[in-house]
Order: sequence, then structure tokens, then C-alpha cells
Amino acid sequence: IPPVLAIVGRPNVGKSTLVNRIIGRREAVVEDVPGVTRDRVSYEAEWNGRVFTVVDTGGWEHDAKGIHQRVAEQAELAVDVADAVVFVVDSTVGPTSTDEAVVKMLRRKGKPVILAANKVDDITQEADAASLWGLGFGYPYPVSAIHGRGTGDLLDAALDEL
Ligand code: GDP
Ligand code: MG
Repeated sequence: IPPVLAIVGRPNVGKSTLVNRIIGRREAVVEDVPGVTRDRVSYEAEWNGRVFTVVDTGGWEHDAKGIHQRVAEQAELAVDVADAVVFVVDSTVGPTSTDEAVVKMLRRKGKPVILAANKVDDITQEADAASLWGLGFGYPYPVSAIHGRGTGDLLDAALDEL
């Protein structure tokens, strides 16, 4: 059974875009409107000759429970079956209270976490990524899921944990 890498984070940070980048196909649904990813969706991926399963997350509805709890719950389901986690944050926005809800859940789980500072589309935005050190998951890998910038280094780090 291939090891499992879960991609988690709040809506609209670019998880599905990153998944498409990782699998080299456009199968994960990318939407400007948050929340369209159907539950958890798994894909087979390969990097540096290693086969693994990547799990996209999302698919919650806004309801009485509130967005923070919903996001954290969905992420938790994926984290429970994962060997390692890529936690995606939007570096153009910085950490939000929804991100913090995911952080709390990830600390509780104790699985290896690789922090992806997404939407670093060019070098001038790398300073934004540095501010994510404060989340406590070590080096924030600056990536642009859309352009593929930095995603190789991110995957190298993630595969080291699988
Ligand atoms: P998800 O809800 O976390 O799965 O996010 P999506 O992958 O659906 O992306 C949400 C929005 O962010 C879409 O409009 C994407 O085109 C955009 N997006 C994703 N990655 C990047 C990136 O690296 N740079 C920029 N500028 N936009 C991105
Ligand atoms: Mg998505």
C-alpha cells in the first residue's frame, strides 16, 4: 500500500491547485468559490520514482457548526489516514483564525507537517511566506501551486516524511 500524503488547509488557499500540480493532471476541481471539493479525493502520484497517494480535502457546507470547526473536522478525517500532511496557507493573506483551528488539530495529531506558503508567485512575495514561521511548523516552503514555483522542494520535504 503506497504511503498517504494529505493536503489540508482552509478553503481557497490553493489545495486543489497544488494537488493537480503534484499529480501532473487537472483532476482536482479548482474553484474561485470556496468549498466545492467533494469530501476527500485520493489520487495516485509519483515523485522521484516513489509512488504515493495524495488526498485533497474540502467539501464542507457552511452551517450552524461554523466554518472553523467544519474545516478542522474535514482536515482531521484526512490527517487520520495520512502518513504526512502538507498544510497549505495563503501567504498573501497570512494566518487567519480558520488556519489557527487547523493548527490546533494538527498539533493534537502529532503527524509530520510540511508547511506550504502558497501563492508566492514571484520572488517579491517570499517575505510574506516568512511570516508563517510563527505557526510553529518550521520552515514555510514558499510555493506557487499555479506556476509550479517551489513545489519540487516542497515535495522533496514531504516525501522525506513518508
Ligand atoms: P482550495 O479551495 O484550497 O482547493 O483552492 P483552489 O485550488 O480551488 O484555489 C482557489 C483559488 O486560488 C483559485 O482561484 C486558484 O486559481 C487560486 N490559486 C491557487 N494557487 C494559486 C497560486 O499559487 N497563486 C495564485 N495567485 N493563485 C492561486
Ligand atoms: Mg479544493
